[in-house]
Amino acid sequence: TIGASIGISLYPQNGLNASELMQQADSAMYAAKRNGKNQAMYFTPDLGTLVRERLNLENQLREALTRGDIHAHYQPEFDAVSGRLVRFEALARWTHPTLGVICPDRFIPVAEETGLIASLGAYILELACTEALKWNAISPYPVQVAVNVSSIQFGRDTYVEEVIQTLNRTGLRPDLLQLELTESVMIDGIHRSGETMRRLKGLGITLAIDDFGTGYSCLSYLPTLPFDMLKIDRSFVKECHLRPERRMLVQSLISLSHNMGLRVIVEGVENEQQLDLITDLKGNEIQGYLLGRPIPDPVSKVLSLCQNER
Ligand code: C2E
Ligand code: CA
Ligand code: CA
Repeated sequence: TIGASIGISLYPQNGLNASELMQQADSAMYAAKRNGKNQAMYFTPDLGTLVRERLNLENQLREALTRGDIHAHYQPEFDAVSGRLVRFEALARWTHPTLGVICPDRFIPVAEETGLIASLGAYILELACTEALKWNAISPYPVQVAVNVSSIQFGRDTYVEEVIQTLNRTGLRPDLLQLELTESVMIDGIHRSGETMRRLKGLGITLAIDDFGTGYSCLSYLPTLPFDMLKIDRSFVKECHLRPERRMLVQSLISLSHNMGLRVIVEGVENEQQLDLITDLKGNEIQGYLLGRPIPDPVSKVLSLCQNER
């Protein structure tokens, strides 16, 4: 499916020459994309401010990457039945020298729009593999690391090679790595994405589909792709213990996944009621603030988390 995002600028209100007009139209186009794509937007003066902010963020992000101001926090994920720690998910953090911590929801989209995501993603993968090696050296059983992959990074011809090189360089066993992909990886066509996924799986890496149900969920592709797990987005979990229709949705998603042979991770579990409900509904793994927030030093926590039991 081909869509279009259109930005419109008007002469003479928005600019007096071609380059100014094109620049404003470009900002309006990015605004249309941010607004959910597939639409046309007119340039307005506050978009100009946004663009300057974005440019600023882009330059600063470039600097941050070279200066090492980007790092990862790690959030634990547990087996729903035994309560055992199964993996940590690496989540990118940017500590800005004056602005403090900037959350990924602000800088990942900028990184994606500017192509910086390739180096950012590679950097996080390297950090995560190195860290996982450290916690596996002391944990009583293998504990995986999960790394988020942007569809732009995943679509690069060299992606699989990059992953292989990182595994070789760090020495992490491939089965200790889980990659989290979103539905937007299908943008390159199901055949090509499937091929890349099969190569990754062939190495022993496990694959999870992230944020399921929030994009343009096209159910027909799911069974044809070699996913191991499906991660139910926290937006579904939010009120699942309060609203019967939410509960039904989660229940259906879990049985759908199980019927396709996928294990289910439920993210965003914040209270006991949600935890009990998800366990009743046979969700396989749990992530959320109730059981553990993202932390900068997983190695210091891994031993006590491995002793967790329900
Ligand atoms: P995500 O992959 O869905 O990651 C889970 C997000 O939910 C994280 O936010 C986590 O801190 C938050 N979270 C976990 N448990 C709870 C909970 O119980 N309640 C609530 N309210 N939130 C919870 P974070 O760290 O801000 O990351 C946001 C998004 O940024 C991630 O969503 C992911 O899509 C993206 N992201 C983060 N790191 C990377 C990365 O290295 N590469 C790429 N491509 N994307 C990343
Ligand atoms: Ca994720
Ligand atoms: Ca999610």
